[in-house]
Amino acid sequence: MNFDSFNLQPDILSNVRAVGYETPTPIQQQSIPTILSGKDVMGLAQTGTGKTAAFVLPILHRLMQGPRSVVRALIVAPTRELAQQIHEAIVELSKGTKLRSMTCYGGVNINPQIKNLKSGVEIVVACPGRLLDHIQQRTINLEKVEVLVLDEADQMFDMGFLPSIRKLLRHVPKNRQTLLFSATMPSEINDLARDVLRNPITIEAGHSAPASSVQQTLFPVEQHLKSDLLIKILHKTKTDSVLVFTRTKHSAKKVAQKLLDAGFSATSLQGNLSQNKRLTAMNGFRDGSLQILVATDIAARGIDVTTVSHVINYDMPSTVEAYIHRIGRTGRAERDGEAYTFTQHEDQHLVRKIERVLGSKLAQRKLDDFNYDAKAAGIARHPTLKIVHSRRPVQKGSQDDQRR
Ligand code: AMP
Repeated sequence: MNFDSFNLQPDILSNVRAVGYETPTPIQQQSIPTILSGKDVMGLAQTGTGKTAAFVLPILHRLMQGPRSVVRALIVAPTRELAQQIHEAIVELSKGTKLRSMTCYGGVNINPQIKNLKSGVEIVVACPGRLLDHIQQRTINLEKVEVLVLDEADQMFDMGFLPSIRKLLRHVPKNRQTLLFSATMPSEINDLARDVLRNPITIEAGHSAPASSVQQTLFPVEQHLKSDLLIKILHKTKTDSVLVFTRTKHSAKKVAQKLLDAGFSATSLQGNLSQNKRLTAMNGFRDGSLQILVATDIAARGIDVTTVSHVINYDMPSTVEAYIHRIGRTGRAERDGEAYTFTQHEDQHLVRKIERVLGSKLAQRKLDDFNYDAKAAGIARHPTLKIVHSRRPVQKGSQDDQRR
């Protein structure tokens, strides 16, 4: 099968060729004809499966006919990074069509967004908090929305966005096409799907299983040795870009600093950074000038860098779903990838759960030339002692600014 068979508008088809897509991915093969036919879709798909183009292409095709300068497609995503990435995919795939897309997310000045909305756009990619700000200030008109996409719905739920989504639903026409994508199906998402979708077609691609191109390995290690082990692994392993996940913002920053001190080109991506710093980190990681990005789950949501050769879970994620999302950051677009997970004794329960979902045991590895018996040095590293940091004032801003 190739993209010609979808009978997409010629400009859109030539953009598909220009970005180098030759064969539609499984989710694209199933979704594109269904979405083109106007049906609602419940897409069970993780990132890395090509789901963005799966909904963007039929939306662009649809928008080629009909009015311009009114918001006709609204795409809601949980994080700014993901919203930005979807917008960038739209820009690439809509070249020459004169369709206009913009992002609406918090953490940046609202005025340029208002100006952009006034000037007339057909597609808005938004995060829930800022979108509600626009709705409340009446700076966005959603009465003409024909297609609503709720992307990464499970993550929106994790981030507490479902009430915002329900509020937003009161402002879009009932008579619309709705596409809901989620990597996992917790009961809350099932309920939401039942409420928002009309006779949906369910499309499943890679549900609850990482891409087969990802090799997964566990590295049992005690907490106080993790950063030394990370540095050792990075010295010994041939890598392209590396994404390291930590549980907290503080530890993302600390680990990135240790990597810098050890001579690596690294930075952190976490919610305490300004939007500008975040963009600089993301862009540096994307263009390869920064090799290692240390991030929290939420900040890393939506990172789409096909050169990520290694995902390293410095801290174990809190759920099986988060594990699958994380390791889905490598092995993208059929490239090979490696996922290393540092585990401690208390992580065993989750490891077993992951193995049950994967249907196989994960390989375990110990480095021969690493001293696993080294003791923690100094009081600051003692696991039972807590260092209390002074609280930073919480910045005022929209809801999107404060999560992660
Ligand atoms: P996504 O799951 O939408 O985040 O896409 C994952 C990656 O696959 C992105 O880098 C896309 O540009 C790429 N991609 C999407 N569709 C295709 C395709 N049909 N062929 C090759 N790469 C693709």
